[in-house]
Amino acid sequence: MSDSVPSNTPIIAPVTNFIRGIIDADLASGKHRTVATRFPPEPNGYLHVGHAKSICLNFGLAQDYAGTCNLRFDDTNPEKETTEYASAIQEDVRWLGFQWHGPVRWASDYFSQLYDFAEELIRKGLAYVCDLTAEEMRDYRGTLTEPGRPSPWRDRSIEENLDLFRRMRAGEFPDGSRTLRARIDMASPNINMRDPVIYRIKRAHHIRTGDAWCIYPMYDYTHCISDALEGITHSLCTLEFEDHRPLYDWVLDNITIPCHPQQIEFSRLEMRYTVTSKRKLNQLVAQGHVAGWDDPRMPTIHGMRRRGYTPAGIREFARRIGISKSENLVDLSVLEGCIREDLEAKAPRVMAVVHPIKVVLTNFREGVTASRSAGFHPNHPEFGEREVPISRELWIEAEDFSEAPPPGWQRLTPGGEVRLRYSYVIRCDGVVKDEHGDIVELRCTLDPDTLGQNPVGRKVKGVIHWVSAAHAVPVEVRLYDRLFTDPEPDGHKDRDFLEFLNHESLRVVRGWAESPVGQAKPEAHYQFERLGYFYADRFDHQPGKRPVFNRTVGLKDSWSREQA
Ligand code: ATP
Ligand code: MG
Repeated sequence: MSDSVPSNTPIIAPVTNFIRGIIDADLASGKHRTVATRFPPEPNGYLHVGHAKSICLNFGLAQDYAGTCNLRFDDTNPEKETTEYASAIQEDVRWLGFQWHGPVRWASDYFSQLYDFAEELIRKGLAYVCDLTAEEMRDYRGTLTEPGRPSPWRDRSIEENLDLFRRMRAGEFPDGSRTLRARIDMASPNINMRDPVIYRIKRAHHIRTGDAWCIYPMYDYTHCISDALEGITHSLCTLEFEDHRPLYDWVLDNITIPCHPQQIEFSRLEMRYTVTSKRKLNQLVAQGHVAGWDDPRMPTIHGMRRRGYTPAGIREFARRIGISKSENLVDLSVLEGCIREDLEAKAPRVMAVVHPIKVVLTNFREGVTASRSAGFHPNHPEFGEREVPISRELWIEAEDFSEAPPPGWQRLTPGGEVRLRYSYVIRCDGVVKDEHGDIVELRCTLDPDTLGQNPVGRKVKGVIHWVSAAHAVPVEVRLYDRLFTDPEPDGHKDRDFLEFLNHESLRVVRGWAESPVGQAKPEAHYQFERLGYFYADRFDHQPGKRPVFNRTVGLKDSWSREQA
């Protein structure tokens, strides 16, 4: 049997967008002869579905234009960054199906060059050491409607600035006591241009450079120079950096560097019923609202993987939502639809029962009542087939039985008939209950003439899934619901996003599945017929010992209906 997913991902034409338009024009005009992009995460958390969009964009463009895409860690905030995050990020990029060009890059690889460029700016009179405290600096910065005021330290001599900056680096001054600032324009309507800080003093142990530095460059200053040092042609980032672009360009225009990448902004992906902010995701983990960064309810790439989402499905999602500058609030159903479509052709189909009630076949005859075999996929005979054994006792889904069914009911009911998928038609003759009135078992008879053929003289419309109690394996099944009850949990000014946590987002049940499922390898995908797509948990599932399955996605789109 095939319990691994075939990897023949169809090649799908990219959807065109304004960034591709810019690249096409740059190649046509001869401005560039190749395309070089980069994905620049900060290793301060696990990547989420928004990052997946950015990964698919950057790596996807490099693939489509036969160019290159670097993976560069933006590691300029030593206090928040860890090697655990950095390795998880590399794992995620690879898992999504991408490989970066050459070695992993780190902004910290450029610390000495960044330092030298800062001295160059000082020598040109374009940077100065400022002694204002953070609070004073805010005060001097002005507001959106009022210009800022020049710092009293703005006109220090070049020699004094060089001397102070070198002493900052040498560790002569306490943390936060001085900064290096670009000398641009305190009256600029763009606050980012009002003499932004480009270096700060911070004694923090860095994951790569250890204690070699006690000054660290700021993101805006680091990012553009790192891009230029790597020969990036198109530096793609999210819209909140639009106002930073003049600074990106200013830095590169004022240092001696031969390359000037073009920064292009696109809109962030936001998804309904979830949050895509590392800080908030961190909070969910740190406060124990979820089991970890890879909790299957998390919108992290690790979480999506653990739930059973597939790289091809996520890539298709990124393709479908496209790239633009307009608001990008997407329904979960779009992502789920892509996952479902991908799994539909890849996942073998078996039967499992997640809310079992027992059926006893009173006329079952050992050695006479026959079993049938069934293929693992209706359209993929190469997936193979297995015996679907029957025995005297079966498990069926509690939902498939009703003592007082609504009109139109086609499943089992006292006195009624239903077909067992791949097997006989059965009739319910009686319901056995315990002293609380709860159903203990259903007494049924099978019609021996209905194996592989229609019953004579009557129509049986309903078909239900089931497993043979004697043959089935017990499975732990984890059923997920969305993590938040509100479509925009972080969209309320006066209410914290945690108030909207869905406390019923995880239900763990004990069910039964056909025996091949018990031998599945971790990370195997199955369709449990009529129930959805399920995935053998990466860590907790133990073949032959402890089957644990996560519900990846149901068979139908249940969100969009509810939202209508
Ligand atoms: P967060 O706001 O969640 O903390 P971030 O932007 O600080 O994310 P980075 O590690 O700096 O995280 O992001 C790496 C890259 O991923 C950046 O180029 C960023 O623009 C992009 N990115 C981050 N979030 C999204 C998103 N929601 N949609 C699209 N791209 C995103
Ligand atoms: Mg960031």
